[in-house]
Amino acid sequence: MLRCAVMAFVLALFQQAASYDVVLQGGRVMDPETGLDAVRSVGISGGRIAAVSEQPLRGSTVLDAAGLVVTAGFVDLHSHGQDPENYRLKALDGVTTALELEIGVDDVGKFLQERRGRSAVNYGATASHPFARVRAFGGQPTPGAIVPATGPATETPASAEQLGRLAALVRKGLDDGGLGIGMGIAYTPGATRSEIIETFRLAAERRLPVFTHVRSTGRIEPGSSVEAMSEVIAAAAITGASLHIVHMNSSGARDAPECLRMVEGARARGLDVTTEAYPYIAGMTAVNSAIFNPGWREKLGVDYKDLQLVETGERLTRESFERLHASPEPKLVVIFSNTEEMVETVIRHPLVMIASDGHIEKGKGHPRGAGTYARILARYVRERQQLTLMDALRKMSLMPAQRLERATAAARRKGRLQVGADADVVVFDARTVVDRSTYSSPAEPSFGFRHVLVAGTPVVRDGKSADGVFPGRPVVSDQSLAISVSR
Ligand SMILES: [Zn+2]
Repeated sequence: MLRCAVMAFVLALFQQAASYDVVLQGGRVMDPETGLDAVRSVGISGGRIAAVSEQPLRGSTVLDAAGLVVTAGFVDLHSHGQDPENYRLKALDGVTTALELEIGVDDVGKFLQERRGRSAVNYGATASHPFARVRAFGGQPTPGAIVPATGPATETPASAEQLGRLAALVRKGLDDGGLGIGMGIAYTPGATRSEIIETFRLAAERRLPVFTHVRSTGRIEPGSSVEAMSEVIAAAAITGASLHIVHMNSSGARDAPECLRMVEGARARGLDVTTEAYPYIAGMTAVNSAIFNPGWREKLGVDYKDLQLVETGERLTRESFERLHASPEPKLVVIFSNTEEMVETVIRHPLVMIASDGHIEKGKGHPRGAGTYARILARYVRERQQLTLMDALRKMSLMPAQRLERATAAARRKGRLQVGADADVVVFDARTVVDRSTYSSPAEPSFGFRHVLVAGTPVVRDGKSADGVFPGRPVVSDQSLAISVSR
């Protein structure tokens, strides 16, 4: 008995004496998975969370978190901006993992290689169906373009030979570490229904998800949002592939509530279907893409004046639109097409996770690239009380991590503030955190994230981004690791 008491005393002494690489001292620790919401100190060692303690901890670096929320870093499943400028803005918005999953990248292996040891936040991508299609038709993706320009490779049904080449390229992207298959069906209207099903089969055969922008938007039949959702839910049911539908706010548009009921119904029947949204009434895409093929005004219920050229801020006219749509240059336009009420309805829905769809280029773009996550906390949690803080955190960290768990076991260590989790951690002031990016000044960083750690290394410290620090790691599918180990 006495020996036990001595042992316990020694153990307690040892824990108190233990020193961590970094300590976040005395913050309001919130973890959506366990429901923990209490004052704790967090000890970090070797890039992982090593202690969550009611007692103060000792560490080589101690950051005071009193009065601040301490939680898992946000996981952005839909981040087109994949360069240092965007990674810096992401970190200042609380994002510790930024993934290009909607459209994917042309060459997954090269994408990962180029970022190794050079990235502030964790990164990863899907194998791209749209870009593989461009190559299968003998073309080359335009450098820097996030979606293909409209042309024969996007408008024409593929031959059997082209489909064979497309499938081989997609499989190569999965071998190289793709987290699934990215599809932008609206950008490749020439893809037949059976090509879509075949592409879902490729994902199912690897047990990886499909991330997709659905074929069309609006109420006009054929080509409604409801029809487009039906196509991909059916493809998931037929093939067994998991499905993630991107930006429900803009793809569902006025029928987003019905589209969300479709997702609920599919899940109730046992299908693995998930979705996301960004908190803005406007979207953004390339004006020379197939989104703007004839009939777009009727389909989307918008006119030329509802398009704003990102580069200059000018609103378009019929003349300027026609010139830009026909140009090979992928100029971006912001599309004002949704209502605030609809965005609120979608954001509040318990199945909807938050993803930015962000892309800032030389300071230009859409404010979602820099402000999505702070905007959720400022506008939807604090000001309008549409979401509890815990629910908002769940939508921004835990749910996106769970979406990735079938593709990579590493995702089980993300989105959680728990012992053993990766030390991707954000520390912010819930009373003052706010987005500052606007349509006229889209690259204005968010305010209020005091510290942001990636694998235990601060990439934001005292509200300022740390330069020359690159702790970001690749997020790749488990099977690509297995393949590389067995080679
Ligand atoms: Zn999209």
